[in-house]
Amino acid sequence: MYPKIREREKMAVIVDFGKCLHCGGCVGSCPQNAIYMNDYVLEFNENCNSCKRCVKLCPVAALRMG
Ligand code: SF4
Ligand code: SF4
Repeated sequence: MYPKIREREKMAVIVDFGKCLHCGGCVGSCPQNAIYMNDYVLEFNENCNSCKRCVKLCPVAALRMG
């Protein structure tokens, strides 16, 4: 169990599905294998460590931390 301060620091990736092109680039970019595409919908598992690599990589800025 993380201390509370770590829980606040660990943010989730939020997808703007209105922008997403389903290119799969973010899926391949994740060093934690935390992103999956399921019927064109992106899903994230608990392995995400909030590194923001996928956020920076997305060509249409469809991802953000929140
Ligand atoms: S990189 Fe961006 S556009 Fe491509 S699948 Fe991921 S969120 Fe969608
Ligand atoms: S923030 Fe980092 S660890 Fe989390 S899904 Fe994106 S690339 Fe993977």
